[in-house]
Amino acid sequence: MSSITLALSKGRIFEETLPLLAAAGIEPTDNPESSRKLIIGTNRPDVRLVIVRATDVPTYVQYGAADLGIAGKDVLLEHGGAGLYQPLDLNIARCRLCVAVPRGFDYAAASKPGGRIRVATKYINSAKAHFAAKGMHVDLIKLYGSMELAPLVGLADAIVDLVSTGGTLRANNLEEVEDIMPISSRLVVNQASLKLKRELIQPVLDAIAGAVK
Ligand code: ATP
Ligand code: MG
Repeated sequence: MSSITLALSKGRIFEETLPLLAAAGIEPTDNPESSRKLIIGTNRPDVRLVIVRATDVPTYVQYGAADLGIAGKDVLLEHGGAGLYQPLDLNIARCRLCVAVPRGFDYAAASKPGGRIRVATKYINSAKAHFAAKGMHVDLIKLYGSMELAPLVGLADAIVDLVSTGGTLRANNLEEVEDIMPISSRLVVNQASLKLKRELIQPVLDAIAGAVK
């Protein structure tokens, strides 16, 4: 019997995906927040979930270890999207990618031609593309988390990070100076899986599409 595997990350993506899966008649049998299981069954014998790090979702789907996955646009842009079909914007985990600096830092002056700043980020590809389009010279420093700390301790002048309410920026005396792009999570599908298992996958895609707000 053919079956499908969906790669998901814990936290907000899992929470916000549950109603979409329910619309497709898929209900997980365990909660990944409380269970230590990395493979989670569902009410459907032919559908299982694998719980992976958010940034690893595109990799599992690219290599076909998962047929489907749900990942933020931020993560997909860094991955590059090779081997992935991206049929649906799920409109969940919405936030924006932006440039932020310590309150009072003269970003306008620093971004003039000839200016050079140091930018800390987890999003090297997106940051590179953004500053190149503006003709700005930046030294990018790769971090894996807590980007807000970098300007506070002199590691960088600015950060490129995701913001939703701006609460974390405010709490660390930073301000948003440039909006790069809106972010939401997308459904991705392994291209070969879509061809080989279309009868199983297409109804799931259609049901999820119908439930997207
Ligand atoms: P970790 O926080 O465990 O290091 P992570 O940052 O990769 O891992 P999350 O913080 O759960 O994981 O983020 C997962 C996805 O959710 C991101 O790739 C992004 O698309 C989205 N996201 C991140 N921060 C926000 C936010 N503040 N509001 C809405 N969506 C967000
Ligand atoms: Mg995070």
